[in-house]
Amino acid sequence: QPLRVGLTGGIGSGKTAVADLLAARGAAVIDTDAIAHALTAPGGLAIEPLRREFGPDMIGPDGAMDRSRMRALVFSDVQAKARLEALIHPLIGQEVEREAAGRQGLYQVFVVPLLVESGRWRDRVDRICVVDCDEATQLRRVQRRSGLAPDMVARIMAAQATRAQRLAVADDVIVNDGETTPEQLAQRTLAQHRAWLDLLALRG
Ligand code: ATP
Repeated sequence: QPLRVGLTGGIGSGKTAVADLLAARGAAVIDTDAIAHALTAPGGLAIEPLRREFGPDMIGPDGAMDRSRMRALVFSDVQAKARLEALIHPLIGQEVEREAAGRQGLYQVFVVPLLVESGRWRDRVDRICVVDCDEATQLRRVQRRSGLAPDMVARIMAAQATRAQRLAVADDVIVNDGETTPEQLAQRTLAQHRAWLDLLALRG
């Protein structure tokens, strides 16, 4: 069993930047968001189960899940949200394992934006690595990238775990705050990569 790292952090913290740097060093990166997205795309494994569970209205004419409809439903109906999660989470787990089994690499990195919030991941990974960033910088980065209104970004952040909650469960931390240059981020990520290789060597 390869070493498994769960990589998480708030919106705009720099998860993708860190994952790309680790991939360049030989880590097998598994993007759980992309897997979740593919499940609900046209022809995705979740489409027929969704049709049975929620009716044909939740599938758009293109054959993908109607995201805005589903969002509206689960926003107003907690039971529908629970039913959606009960349907989707096992499929994500199955697909994540399938992808992981087919991947080579020095170790595996699972990028999971809501790792701390979901609670399902603790037992799946050997290490939880948090990309740590202050909220003001998150806000600035996300606005610059997406042009989202500040209050929209603030709402997304309010629905996520706090910086302190993430740090409380972290085994490893890569600081990527407002003072961090891209060069420093690369250095810190390389140091973390080496620490995991040392851990791997110790495990034999
Ligand atoms: P999300 O959860 O929103 O997908 P993320 O955690 O994957 O975000 P990134 O996409 O890696 O974060 O970074 C967010 C933005 O901030 C990107 O545009 C990235 O280029 C930029 N960024 C990240 N770290 C730094 C840094 N240290 N210096 C300057 N820009 C940075």
